[in-house]
Amino acid sequence: MEQKMGPAQGTGPFRCPKCGSVTWGQLQHCPECGESLTVECSECGGTWRYIYDYTYCPSCGAKVGKQRSKL
Ligand SMILES: [Zn+2]
Ligand SMILES: [Zn+2]
Repeated sequence: MEQKMGPAQGTGPFRCPKCGSVTWGQLQHCPECGESLTVECSECGGTWRYIYDYTYCPSCGAKVGKQRSKL
């Protein structure tokens, strides 16, 4: 049987990009610091887990790139 690598549906454990807390499930924001854990396409409004790190929106194909500020 073939098993997919990584958090296929975005439900596995991953770290908050801001505070580093390990977060589970379908949370929209980090429960520790409130950082958004999703990226939103400015064109179509589609969202996905930040961990996917898409360059192009999987819904509409718009280029999204990195939206995060360098703080
Ligand atoms: Zn956090
Ligand atoms: Zn889009």
